[in-house]
Formats: sequence, structure tokens, C-alpha cells
Amino acid sequence: MHETAPVLVASGEGSTAPLRTRRGANSSKNEERAKNRLRVVYIVGSVRSGSTLLDVLLGSHPDIHSTGELARISKYYEPPGYRCSCGKGASECPFWSGVLQDFERTSPLQELNRGWRRFEGFRAFPRTWWGARTGTRALREQVARLGEMIRSIARASGKGTVIDSSKDPVRGFLYSLLPSDAFDVRYIHLVRDGRGFMFSVTARPDGAGLGQRHKKGRPAAVRALEWASTNLLTSILFAGGDTQYLRLRYEDFVAQPSLELRRIGTFLGTDLSSIAEDLSQGRAVPIAGHIVGGNRLRFNAAVIIQPDTEWQRRLPARLDWTFWGLAGWLALAYGYHRTAG
Ligand SMILES: [Zn+2]
Repeated sequence: MHETAPVLVASGEGSTAPLRTRRGANSSKNEERAKNRLRVVYIVGSVRSGSTLLDVLLGSHPDIHSTGELARISKYYEPPGYRCSCGKGASECPFWSGVLQDFERTSPLQELNRGWRRFEGFRAFPRTWWGARTGTRALREQVARLGEMIRSIARASGKGTVIDSSKDPVRGFLYSLLPSDAFDVRYIHLVRDGRGFMFSVTARPDGAGLGQRHKKGRPAAVRALEWASTNLLTSILFAGGDTQYLRLRYEDFVAQPSLELRRIGTFLGTDLSSIAEDLSQGRAVPIAGHIVGGNRLRFNAAVIIQPDTEWQRRLPARLDWTFWGLAGWLALAYGYHRTAG
């Protein structure tokens, strides 16, 4: 976490100048400016990290709007469509249909989707990075569309903070290019123990735990390297640089949710103590708003937290060794031990 808030500044509209980096003068001045800006909280890291839980808990605060995995927004509306946490399809949900109408006053959703395919995802990173270095028009336009989408969501919700839990670090990099006089972007790097991740993404004999789209199954070694490369890129892009960054281990969050929520509250400058209080008293936290992307947790009326321990009993030794052999060095750096717990 960085007390001062150095920021990336996008070059002016129509300019071909490279995007450049500027450091803030002091933290109080930056905090003052932050009050007048739209805040984006981006939950970043590997898939299957428990981001939906964090997303819905933060979204229960009255000043925060939780969107789910916003990167897939164009899919929300395509038939058969995604179902919103309010129970309606995105096209019928008054919130998301309003967002679409508002956004499309500036640009068709298709354009945002095209830019998503071009500039987001791990493989797109060299192109995106180079586009930022050289200030290409296509990249600047995509960053502007992303900003317009955040504005549309903020207008529809009437809230000053929007959470996107898409997790892709390359999308997070795009957010860092938003103009700093209008947007205050903060990153929560959510890390889950890689062995829990392996248990979650690898097909098991009982068929449990996996969505149909994951069933084709990539080799375990590829999965382990996915975990390592995504988390490493996240750390490189956001932890040591000019961004506001907080790293959170999923296991710490489920073990001591109220403590970790207070830490997140300090990081965001938002009082999360009432949510922390509910959790510490064992009370369920009601799910608020309209969440579309993310796991099925969003359809619950309320959330309670349970520890993530099933993998410790059931992860096959082969997967355990594959993960530790390939990615254990990074797991150690995040404070995990060879023997789980
Ligand atoms: Zn809805």
C-alpha cells in the first residue's frame, strides 16, 4: 500500500504523445482530490480466488456499487444472457438496461467488446503495453470507453465507488490509464492459496466444483503456471509502482473477515465497520445491488463466510506436487507454506 498516490496520466484527447507517469506532491493533497473523483476499485488476481465474496460484501456498503465481473458486460445482454442478482436477465433488469442505454449515447457496446478482445487478457498484454507506451489511438479510445462505462454505472447507481472484480491484470492496466483528474483507481490484489485454486479448476472424479466450460481441462502444470503468471504480473504491474495497491490473502479474509475488512476500509478511506461488525457477530450480510458476472453466490439473499479447507483434505498429491514444483516459489513469497494451514 502506498500512502502517496502517484498516478498514471493519460495523454490528451487526439494527442499521439506517450502516456506518462506523474507522482503526486503529497498524500493529503491527493486525498483531497480523490474526494472529487469517481472511484474504481478493481479486484485483481487469478480466477477462482473468491472475488465474488469480497465483491458482494463491499457492495453491501451504501456508497459502493458492486458490478461483478464487468469485463464480460457485452455477454450479459447476449441471448441466453446472464441473470442479475435481482433475479431478472440483464436485458430486463432496470439497472443494467438503464446502464446500456446511458452508455450507448457515447459508443456502441459492440465497440467496447471489440476493444476487450483486442486489449484485455494475458496474451494481449504486449500489444496493450506497447499501445500505452506509444499512445495509440485505438488504445486511448478503449480506455475512454471503459471510463464512460464506469460513469454510466455510477450515474445509474448514484454511488461514488464502483467495484469491478474481473481480476484480469491487463484490464487493471487499462484502468491505470484513466485520467487521474476524473478517476481514483485502487487495486485489491486477491491471492488464494494455489492449491485451493488447483482443487477448484481441476476436474475431479465426482465432477464437483467445475463449471461445464472448464471441463475440457488443461493440464495441471498449465494451471499452476496460470496461477503464477497472473499473480506475478499483478504484483509487477501494481505492487511496486505508481498505483494504490492492497494485497489480500483469501484465507486471511475468511479466517478474520472483520479484521481484514477494517484494513480494506482504511485503504479505501471508507468506513466498513458495520459490515465488519455483522460478520464478527456471525450475522449474514444482505446482498445489495445488481451483480451479474461472478459465481452463483450472487443469487443468495445474504452472505456468511466459511473457511476454505476442503482442498486440504481432498487435493490429490499429484496436483499438490505439480503446483508446488512450478509455483511454490511465488506461493512462499505470498506467505504460504509447504504444509497447508
Ligand atoms: Zn438487476
